[in-house]
Amino acid sequence: MKIAIIGAGVAGLTCGTLFAERGWNTTILADEIGTASTAAAAIWYPYDTGPTNRTISWALVTYERLTNLLSDADSGVSMIQMRMYSRSGDLEIPDWAIPLGAKWSSSEIPTAFVSGFTLDVPLMDTAVYLDYLVRRFNRAGGVLDLCKHVFDLEGLDSAFDVIVNCTGIGARTLVSDSDLEPHRGQIVCVPKLNLASAIVSDDAPLMYAIPRRSDCVFGGTNDISDDRAVDDDATARIIDECSNVLSIEKPHPICVKVGLRPFRRTGVRLESARLTDERPVIHNYGHGGSGFTLSWGCAEEVFRLAIETFLRVTSARSHETN
Ligand SMILES: Cc1cc2nc3c(=O)[nH]c(=O)nc-3n(C[C@H](O)[C@H](O)[C@H](O)COP(=O)(O)OP(=O)(O)OC[C@H]3O[C@@H](n4cnc5c(N)ncnc54)[C@H](O)[C@@H]3O)c2cc1C
Repeated sequence: MKIAIIGAGVAGLTCGTLFAERGWNTTILADEIGTASTAAAAIWYPYDTGPTNRTISWALVTYERLTNLLSDADSGVSMIQMRMYSRSGDLEIPDWAIPLGAKWSSSEIPTAFVSGFTLDVPLMDTAVYLDYLVRRFNRAGGVLDLCKHVFDLEGLDSAFDVIVNCTGIGARTLVSDSDLEPHRGQIVCVPKLNLASAIVSDDAPLMYAIPRRSDCVFGGTNDISDDRAVDDDATARIIDECSNVLSIEKPHPICVKVGLRPFRRTGVRLESARLTDERPVIHNYGHGGSGFTLSWGCAEEVFRLAIETFLRVTSARSHETN
């Protein structure tokens, strides 16, 4: 079974690793390693994505897979206490978070907020984790073919039995999907801070401070825009807001990153289709602000669809031959 995966962000690399480790002859074709993925804060939490009836089960599968990686120091995955706060009213603990141990935050609510809950979640150190996926993929025999722009899925080498489309916001042009909307996000990396928890608030202004092994991620922004250039005013606003909430001196930025969350108005597209020569294509894009959070759950569903579709096609072919 020969499979081509288009895209080497977290979606494509996770699918690639899963297929290669299960014995498929797997090639990833992509312009570059990640676009949105390299800018992500990469904390596990469903945000700016949908539909909820599908995303929560993908997120829970991913939660489990990521916790299995905690013992592997090279993976860049750790567990962190996340404090999710509301600026205006009582925050509801989502039903799915209760079995994971979410609890009301009773003490030390920063003055900017009025209520909140805590939840222990996996955190991926973005660059370390993407490198780890590349290594796992290569070790399993996968081929990573970069600087390869795909203009048309129909034109892909007929030697590939199955194609998986993990192009994120690139699917807007590759498959003319007008439901995709670029939700531009900017983060600022600052020197390591001694924070015991990640502090997050989805209420405007969106704010998060996520301590990592060697730095801290301050965020963020979420605007509909294709502009991947750094906005210096946004950098200043992010540093102001995070420093205010944490009651610290403003730190100097080490780096600033911008990415386009591939938000899809009708929800994540995870479904199979056919090329004109009947070859199966499985679309897996449009994860919005949750590509890391949904990655393993979606990859498992892509795998299930690939097996199902391929069996259907081969059984139809054998009927024709008989
Ligand atoms: C600031 C910010 C913070 C975020 N924080 C989090 C977070 O904390 N947790 C979380 O879960 N998610 C977070 N996200 C969202 C997450 O980053 C995205 O959902 C995820 O990266 C999408 O992954 P992807 O692989 O689909 O797309 P991408 O990472 O964008 O990768 C797309 C890939 O497709 C390739 N490609 C596209 N078109 C073509 C083509 N025609 N031919 C060849 N190659 C092509 C690109 O080169 C790239 O390799 C954040 C995003 C941003 C911007």
